[in-house]
Amino acid sequence: MSIQSNLQHIKSTIPPHVTLVAVSKTKPVSDLMEAYDVGQRIFGENKIQEMTEKYESMPKDIQWHMIGHVQTNKVKYMAGYVNLIHGVDSLKLLAEINKQAKKHNRTINCLLQVYIAEEESKFGLDENELLELLGSAEFRLLENIKVTGLMGMATFTEDQTQIQKEFTHLKTIFDKHKTLKTENCDLQIISMGMSGDYQLAIECGSTMVRIGSSIFGGRN
Ligand SMILES: *Cc1c(COP(=O)(O)O)cnc(C)c1O
Repeated sequence: MSIQSNLQHIKSTIPPHVTLVAVSKTKPVSDLMEAYDVGQRIFGENKIQEMTEKYESMPKDIQWHMIGHVQTNKVKYMAGYVNLIHGVDSLKLLAEINKQAKKHNRTINCLLQVYIAEEESKFGLDENELLELLGSAEFRLLENIKVTGLMGMATFTEDQTQIQKEFTHLKTIFDKHKTLKTENCDLQIISMGMSGDYQLAIECGSTMVRIGSSIFGGRN
């Protein structure tokens, strides 16, 4: 199957209120352009350098989403153009994004990553840490970022019941705290679901899915 037919198929299975992020990490610009040519405008990458190279060589109406874990010292390389940073899990990182956004006279949208998986390896905040961060005086002072939602990654498992439990956990946290609005916080987006579990994620309340291999094929 071609990238274009994969993309069209995926889109036909996603309801209109769910945003599709085409995860293009490791793939060449020619592959991204195939998706671009049938209308895809949101791409997700997990390495800042790779995303920046693609940003520089591709049309400027693309929205670039950083979906990987971000190192503080690299924020400056994407601050001029990045559209949404999915995996933010500390006040320190938010403060750096704010500082770099300010230099570019921009506001950068961020999702806070919530820890929902059972496995040890995933990044993210638990519910208490999330509330502590959003309630802190330091957070309120960050005028060049906006927290627009939450992001989560389920355990890497075949066990659908386990995955469903984790997605539902994120949706519950979201619903509990979505009324918590400030100048720089308005929770609208729930980013959850990848190639293997996006339909389950949508059933559990996802509004943004991050799909790579089902569009572009497997990665090495
Ligand atoms: C790679 C990646 C995806 C896409 O995974 P696929 O299984 O290829 O769809 C989604 N989210 C994150 C954070 C990723 O790193």
